[in-house]
Amino acid sequence: MSAPFQSLRAWLRYLHNKEELAVVTKPVSTRYEIAAYTKHLDGSRPVYFPDVDGYTIPVVSGIASTRQHFAEALGCRTDEMIDKFLHAIDHPIPSEMVKSEAAPVQQHVVTEDIDLMKMFPICLHQEKDSGPYITAGLAIVRDPETGKQNVSIHRLQVSGKNRLGALILPRHTFAAFKKMEEKGEPLEIAIVLGVDPILMLASQAIAPLGQDELEIAGGLRGEAVPVVRCKTVNIDVPAYAEIVLEGKILPHVREPEGPFGEFPAYYGPKSNKEVIEIHCVTHREKPIYQACLAGSDENLLLGAIPREASLLRALRNTVPTVRNVHLTMGGKCRFHLVVSMKKRNEGEAKNVIFAAFAGHYDVKKVIVVDEEIDIFDMDQVEWCVATRFQAERDLVVVHGALGSKLDPSADDGVSSKLGFDCTVPLGAEPEDYEVTRIPSMEGYHFDQHIESRLADDRSFSED
Ligand code: MN
Repeated sequence: MSAPFQSLRAWLRYLHNKEELAVVTKPVSTRYEIAAYTKHLDGSRPVYFPDVDGYTIPVVSGIASTRQHFAEALGCRTDEMIDKFLHAIDHPIPSEMVKSEAAPVQQHVVTEDIDLMKMFPICLHQEKDSGPYITAGLAIVRDPETGKQNVSIHRLQVSGKNRLGALILPRHTFAAFKKMEEKGEPLEIAIVLGVDPILMLASQAIAPLGQDELEIAGGLRGEAVPVVRCKTVNIDVPAYAEIVLEGKILPHVREPEGPFGEFPAYYGPKSNKEVIEIHCVTHREKPIYQACLAGSDENLLLGAIPREASLLRALRNTVPTVRNVHLTMGGKCRFHLVVSMKKRNEGEAKNVIFAAFAGHYDVKKVIVVDEEIDIFDMDQVEWCVATRFQAERDLVVVHGALGSKLDPSADDGVSSKLGFDCTVPLGAEPEDYEVTRIPSMEGYHFDQHIESRLADDRSFSED
């Protein structure tokens, strides 16, 4: 089943028709207030702000903040998302170029007097943020050697009228930029705002360098993403987006950026970072501005689902009987991984732990449980730690490995890793681990025979 959502508007229309879109009826400020509503509704409903102080453009935030939302956007069940994601990485669909006239995102083209803060309701989110940040922009660049595009999301501080400070971690966008910077030249970039959850999710794929995430979005969607060539840069952007900022990352320029409240709920510090200059803006008639709150469930799940897909594949390369993986919300969808597996040989769970450490540097703690455990039920997982784990034989600790630089307890990212093998020993006496059960619970129609009150209400009287 292919997903029906071609655009942010199609997704919002779908939510609106199901009465699952929260609409804030009062005028709101871009200064903290939109962030506050987003936080309040986080994990339940996307929120739309038609009336933003000082702007005619509405804001939408938290467009998908539950696994169910992402599954609906993908047109599958929550337990099918990972397989669907892996299939899309293996079977990308090339984007399809449309003419500018057929691209809503180019209905308006602005090349003069660009003042981003005047044009768009860019939000100030957390108390100590250095200022307003663009948080839901898909950054698209083209590799100068291979010609392949790359899509990623970066926090973007508004540093001037048409100037953005960007945190660009040493991944694919950075690699393309370095190739140009070494020649003393800028790298063209397009920042795309206002897209559906599939495009957001695809942008976070842990795909090899050289794989265009828009083509993964096509694979997820089951059909090509319509794209249009930008007006001033050699980059193709989703034609049904709301807003595109066209510009360049400047070579050999670094300016102060930060602090910024990041996904682990701590501030990323101020330092000198890359600078993007915007020289053209295109947008739809009456565009919708999209925001994403750092550390929100939306932000966390956008990282979790693609990472779970990559980790599942990596773990199955080590032990094919790995069943499922879960990056927990409490672990900020990056640091804590739960794995279920069918253990065939003693010791395999520890191999899975090592494969998980190697699978992504963010993984800090791994809990491995037997296949019948529901790893999305954290009470069950804790029960396994409580009753199937002995530190003396089941604990794995590795010191001095690379972890997340955004974990404040790590030493500039150098971190200890922790593994819990909570699988039942293969040689254990079956009765020692026999789980209690009440016979005939299954298929019993309890609710047919349960009322909230007694037929005879004198039963509880004192006389
Ligand atoms: Mn990439």
